[in-house]
Amino acid sequence: MKKPWVFTFVMLACVLRTVAQSQPAADLIIRNARIWTVDAARPDAEAVAIIGDRIVAVGPNKDVDAWRGPKTRILDAAGKRLLPGFNDAHVHFMTGGADLDQVDLNDAPSEQEFAHRIAARAARTPKGEWILGGNWDETKWGPPQFPTKESIDSVTTGIPVAVSRYDGHMVLANSAALKLAGITAQTPDPPGGVIVHDAKGNPTGALKDAAEDLLYKVVPPPSHDQRRHAIERALAHAASLGVTSVQDMNPEYADIAIYSELLEEGKLTTRIYAAPLIPQVDDQTKIGIRHAFGGPYLRLGALKSYADGSLGSRTAYFFEPFSDQPDNRGLLSDTMQPISLMRDRMMKADAAGLQLCTHAIGDAGISAIIDIYAEIEKAHGPRDRRWRIEHAQHMAAKDFDRFAQLGVIASMQPYHAIDDGRWAEGRIGHDRASRTYAFRTFLDHKVRLAFGTDWSVAPLNPMLSLYAAVTRATLDGKNPNGWFPEQKLTIKEAIEAYTMGSSYAEFQEKVKGSITPGKLADMVLLSEDVLRIDPVKIRDVHVLMTWVGGTLTYDKDSARP
Ligand SMILES: [Zn+2]
Repeated sequence: MKKPWVFTFVMLACVLRTVAQSQPAADLIIRNARIWTVDAARPDAEAVAIIGDRIVAVGPNKDVDAWRGPKTRILDAAGKRLLPGFNDAHVHFMTGGADLDQVDLNDAPSEQEFAHRIAARAARTPKGEWILGGNWDETKWGPPQFPTKESIDSVTTGIPVAVSRYDGHMVLANSAALKLAGITAQTPDPPGGVIVHDAKGNPTGALKDAAEDLLYKVVPPPSHDQRRHAIERALAHAASLGVTSVQDMNPEYADIAIYSELLEEGKLTTRIYAAPLIPQVDDQTKIGIRHAFGGPYLRLGALKSYADGSLGSRTAYFFEPFSDQPDNRGLLSDTMQPISLMRDRMMKADAAGLQLCTHAIGDAGISAIIDIYAEIEKAHGPRDRRWRIEHAQHMAAKDFDRFAQLGVIASMQPYHAIDDGRWAEGRIGHDRASRTYAFRTFLDHKVRLAFGTDWSVAPLNPMLSLYAAVTRATLDGKNPNGWFPEQKLTIKEAIEAYTMGSSYAEFQEKVKGSITPGKLADMVLLSEDVLRIDPVKIRDVHVLMTWVGGTLTYDKDSARP
């Protein structure tokens, strides 16, 4: 009788020969590329072969050529850099798409220009419609003061305006909109929100956090067609930037309905993991959906929560007051008042196997969520949960270890660091600023990073985020060698957080996130080699081609300018 290992060897040899004889041909081979796979088992390669939506071979040109058949399409990448597609771990997809068509106030250099652009939009806005979007940023104005309704009332008479601050934590309404919302000098602040008043006690039109809802509840929701149009705009925008997966934070159910409609029509060209808001927790528990439920294009099973507000709106929740506002240490969100309300919902979500993605910016807001996560683990026992803190912006020194112990993922947006870095230190002082967007400290503590943008809070373009992570050069040009440069990442670390890191954050690291045989063929071909060029030039790199599941979703040469 043969020894078992000899028998096994003979069997294996037979199987290998059969494979060699009947090896199917690739649908597509990309060769002469400079591939960084983000797979430690084979980091560098020249060519990749694809069958259907999967990668079947990665390696030197001559090896991958063995997959060539009579119908195989061959793409010569001419030495360009090929990477796994980017997976943006935190976007607001529908509103991002809608904003592409709305008034753009983000780069307005003054309140006058802000008002001028709203006036121009008002002149072509039909009666009954609102002016929305905006993404204004008063820190770009001199002096950097929040705008008031007075600057836009005279140019928008009768047309209601609700333009949001770029971080989404404040909105400016004009008088017409305040009237529709019934907001007067007597309206009290809702829990977790602020109605800003002028010296005479009248609302200025600025509404912070939970107070925004007073206004948004009277804004007519987008129609099905408007919503679908916005999502189609977002899909095309993502493809043009090499973003092949997004994790959609607080989508409305109507957005998810459109994703499934597009999926059915074969038009969903970006993979989506949707995380509705936690007050809706019962909907997913009722059906029995668990984390990452669904298929490769559309998944559910996560819940988005808010612990606090934002630094820019001074509603991020800190242990100590703002350095320049001694009576203010920010706000817990309305869903954290009381904290037991959040704890009960999170316990319920966890018991049902749902994933938690929690926005937390201030050190005390982050700590409060880590406390809840720790209580859940104590109550329900250890498990592979992949809890996330979204932003994880201003860390208390004691909490890095707690992140690591609980396996919490830091879901961060590098662009915010070069944007907020312009003024953050003035608000929170040097010590707290040193633990702001602390990429390196997280990695040193073996905490996993998942990168994204928070689009439309920041641009969806991954090149700007990579640039931000490796340079930390603030947008105002005042920190060319990096704002807290010890927190910079290498380009490889940044790409890994944006591909494997964000795939891990949605339980999909075995399916995507690297160029590895067996994984989904989601890839991007770049105009320049981001791994070799001067980091300052990364922000100018653009995408030549994007593939999702082996299908070309963007081709620069065929795209119209
Ligand atoms: Zn967000």
